[in-house]
Amino acid sequence: MSVRVTGTVQGVGFRPFVYSLASQLGLSGFVGNDSEGVFAEVEGSRAAVAEFLAAVERDAPPLARIGSVVTKNMHPYGSAGFTIAPSAPGARRTALVSADSAVCADCLAECRDPGDRRFRYPFINCTNCGPRFTIVVDVPYDRPNTTMAPFVMCEPCAAEYHDPANRRFHAQPVCCPACGPRLALRSADGRPQADGDPLAAAAALLRDGKIVAVKGLGGYHLAVDAAREEAAAALRARKHREDKPFAVMAASLAAARQLCEVDETAAALLTSPRRPIVLLPRRPGTVAASVAPGNRQLGVMLPYTPLHHLLLEAAGGPIVLTSGNLSDEPIAYRDDDAFTRLEPIADAFLTHDRAIHIRTDDSVVRVWGGVAGAELAGRGVAGSELAGRGAAGSELAGRGREMLIRRSRGHVPEPVITAHRFPRPVLACGAELKNTFCLASGDRVFVSHHIGDLENAATLRSFTEGIEHFGRLFGIEPEVVAYDLHPEYLSTKYALDLDLDSVGVQHHHAHIASCLADNGHDGPVIGVAFDGTGYGTDGTLWGGEFLVADLASFERAGHLEPVPMPGGAAAIRQPWRMTAAYLRVAFPGGAPDGLDVVKRNERNWVAVTSMADRRVNAPFSSSAGRLFDAVAALLSVRDTINYEGQAAVELEQLAGPGERRAYRAEITGQGPFRIQGADLVRAATGELTEGVPAPVIAARFHNGIAALVEEGCALARERYGLDTVALSGGVFQNLLVTERAVARLVARGFRVLLHSRVPCNDGGISLGQAVVAGARDRGDGARAGAGGAR
Ligand SMILES: [Zn+2]
Ligand SMILES: [Zn+2]
Repeated sequence: MSVRVTGTVQGVGFRPFVYSLASQLGLSGFVGNDSEGVFAEVEGSRAAVAEFLAAVERDAPPLARIGSVVTKNMHPYGSAGFTIAPSAPGARRTALVSADSAVCADCLAECRDPGDRRFRYPFINCTNCGPRFTIVVDVPYDRPNTTMAPFVMCEPCAAEYHDPANRRFHAQPVCCPACGPRLALRSADGRPQADGDPLAAAAALLRDGKIVAVKGLGGYHLAVDAAREEAAAALRARKHREDKPFAVMAASLAAARQLCEVDETAAALLTSPRRPIVLLPRRPGTVAASVAPGNRQLGVMLPYTPLHHLLLEAAGGPIVLTSGNLSDEPIAYRDDDAFTRLEPIADAFLTHDRAIHIRTDDSVVRVWGGVAGAELAGRGVAGSELAGRGAAGSELAGRGREMLIRRSRGHVPEPVITAHRFPRPVLACGAELKNTFCLASGDRVFVSHHIGDLENAATLRSFTEGIEHFGRLFGIEPEVVAYDLHPEYLSTKYALDLDLDSVGVQHHHAHIASCLADNGHDGPVIGVAFDGTGYGTDGTLWGGEFLVADLASFERAGHLEPVPMPGGAAAIRQPWRMTAAYLRVAFPGGAPDGLDVVKRNERNWVAVTSMADRRVNAPFSSSAGRLFDAVAALLSVRDTINYEGQAAVELEQLAGPGERRAYRAEITGQGPFRIQGADLVRAATGELTEGVPAPVIAARFHNGIAALVEEGCALARERYGLDTVALSGGVFQNLLVTERAVARLVARGFRVLLHSRVPCNDGGISLGQAVVAGARDRGDGARAGAGGAR
């Protein structure tokens, strides 16, 4: 019997696993690696071979992601014993580099065992755990092509590396205190602190209220004791980060439970090998106020490197662990750069001599389920249907669902497997904010790590370098490039400078296509794409869209009524300007007197209102995000924002979850229908003047958004005869809106598609662009046209 296994099966201990499995079952034959994955030939009794095949998939090593297992009957050779064949040289490898993985329980036990030669060694790892993507410089994935190349294995490490029965067989980063990387503590001015244990010294600094830069897996973090207000406040001031919450690392699940409410789903995510930051309801008074000011949620993660475990144990309590950067710059990951850029922030550096090749931020997830999840169970909500197909889908059991906010460390570079093959390799350049790019070939899409906001030279450099690196790593030379229609996006300009066939993809079509690809669905569906902003085919700003879409094309079925944005980009930074614009529409005869938002902004109110009236420097937008902004400022949540989406995030937190009533918005229009978002603002304003509490109004507004999603979909169903809805766009990071919208849609008999493998925000745009380009390349769909619209 010959067996071929594809997927992420190299460098994850697959051959030793097959070796020991075959040996246990008394099978003879061999196993080896080649360019496509793992191959084996096994001989033995029919029952033993059958058990072997069952176990290959069932018991595969933790980091393996099996794409396919193909078997073929052969004449037995009558061979004796089982061997591991040497790797076949030559052919380019299509086998995959795996994602970085949290230290495994076996390694952690050794790290804590005083009798082990790696006792308290911060770089302990094995075939089942440790750094991967972040240290790979080139393919094939062998030690000389990683940042472990400078470290020559000592004899005991080499013996483990070459022993097929050992847990460290062919673990490329294998090392020990005698031969591997070492920790060092440096003062802020670059002096090495030679004396004593760097780790103990760093922990002492943290306990002392100091800021310590810590070199992690994908970059430098900045750490402070999470309980010390003056330390957290100093970090905030020096980082120039006004409000955006810091993430906290807790030593254990038990410690995380002291900080937040952790349900079963959250616990599974926190302890998973991916180790994302999980946003959870916080318990009051457990961390310093400056850690997450005004936030009912806290981002928590558990240690994922042995260094983190040792540091947390020594620090004695949870620590803030936030990206090592100044405000909006990318996270520092090269030592020299980190020392320069973080010198004004950090009091000391806990660093080491293993280089990070690719900057990779922590992944961020939310958890939802609970009440709404129970309502929805088994009632037609898709989204994790592809889990178990070897892709990056959520494999969590239980009622809760994982919602990816940022897909980066621990996920990347696992491919998203698509239902259709790409005729030609595609590069998709993504959007402007929360940028990711992707490279697609065959039925695989390699979505990049989080690149960030493409607004400065440093981020643009990691974008272009990342594209080159992915191309090398996965052997993909794109022949087609997909890009956003926004002419000013740096990603668009980059795409159009390439000498490739280019495919422009409308922003919200890309959102819906990414949701389709995420669910292995071809469409057509009713796509609801709600976000902050995206360039429309008519040159105006869209963002509250109902599309009838398949992979190749779309039609705009309806949208929120466009409203002027007084001052353009200034209206994004100052949500109160959107309140002014919406109040003009909601109350043509004048808004009620005495509104706090008007009083607070009295000085500029008339000027901004007349800007909207005269339509000077006030582009129209159908953005759902701006409607959230308008209501947030109306309810005095905030008038200006310090990070993208802040007003909407805080409005969601204000909303009382028990409230069921919903404001209603009228739908008008014979062609594409128009939903009057101003109706929600009028209702909210009316209740505000009647003294209805803000949390009730915020909740009724959220329910109103869910209701207008339902009504828009119902109207689109009447007109187009479709009953599957795909929800995408950053607004659906809002759990309250998503839960309520899904519940309403399901109750009305819709099938609802949600994201599970990529975020619904702009981090998922590149996947959508790629599958649209692929579909057009295949010649799919009658709707395809110049701009994608019918
Ligand atoms: Zn391990
Ligand atoms: Zn060693």
